[in-house]
Amino acid sequence: MLGPPGVGKGTQAKLISLRMNVPAISTGDMLRAAVEAKTELGIKAGETMKGGNLVPDEVIIGLIKDRLEMPDVANGFLLDGFPRTVAQAEALNNLLAAKNMQLTAVLAFTAPTELVVERIGGRLTCRNCGAVFHQITNPPKSGGTCDVCSSRLTVREDDQPEAVRHRMEVYEEKTAPLFDFYEKQGVLRLLDASGPVDVVYAKVEALLK
Ligand code: ADP
Ligand code: AMP
Repeated sequence: MLGPPGVGKGTQAKLISLRMNVPAISTGDMLRAAVEAKTELGIKAGETMKGGNLVPDEVIIGLIKDRLEMPDVANGFLLDGFPRTVAQAEALNNLLAAKNMQLTAVLAFTAPTELVVERIGGRLTCRNCGAVFHQITNPPKSGGTCDVCSSRLTVREDDQPEAVRHRMEVYEEKTAPLFDFYEKQGVLRLLDASGPVDVVYAKVEALLK
């Protein structure tokens, strides 16, 4: 899944995973879990993430390489938030070739910038289980706590306006070139992500079928 921060990738990834029974791998979720658990990776990556910068390619590629060794991905998987640079995309091609696997499709989420800013500006995240809500479009049932695990919901540090601005710049510079990269590879599937969650999901489903 490709697209700017806040466009709705994670929301759809969780639905696809649940409804289509496909493991969804989110590098952002993996890194946030490492930060919470204060692992060596989390301690190193935390400051970089807070400022809205990308974690170094070699760290992320190593993380994905290890994850793809796990047995649950043998019949296919979904990637959310990876790759984010051309170097990561090239590394993914190599990892897949080594496993005799093919990239079926790149779901490229698009939406007007104002909408993306609105979505990211209202995001509430559960630091315990990673569930995502929105203050207006998808409010939690019980005010400030997670519907799934009842932990307190928070605003991600990198969802503060200054960090969001920087993440958008980083996205344009480092990640947007992947549209061309995958277009050339013949796997890019553009998807208008501006509708409600279920409408977007129906589009995802149609594209994957
Ligand atoms: P990403 O993973 O691309 O950064 P998220 O899936 O976390 O984006 O979504 C960003 C915010 O927008 C969240 O608060 C989420 O609840 C909300 N959101 C996601 N998809 C939609 C949608 N189709 N309509 C309205 N709000 C949405
Ligand atoms: P996300 O949850 O996808 O918005 O990612 C949150 C943050 O985690 C990003 O702003 C980066 O700091 C870091 N991150 C996640 N995925 C990657 C990646 N593929 N490459 C580099 N940094 C990443």
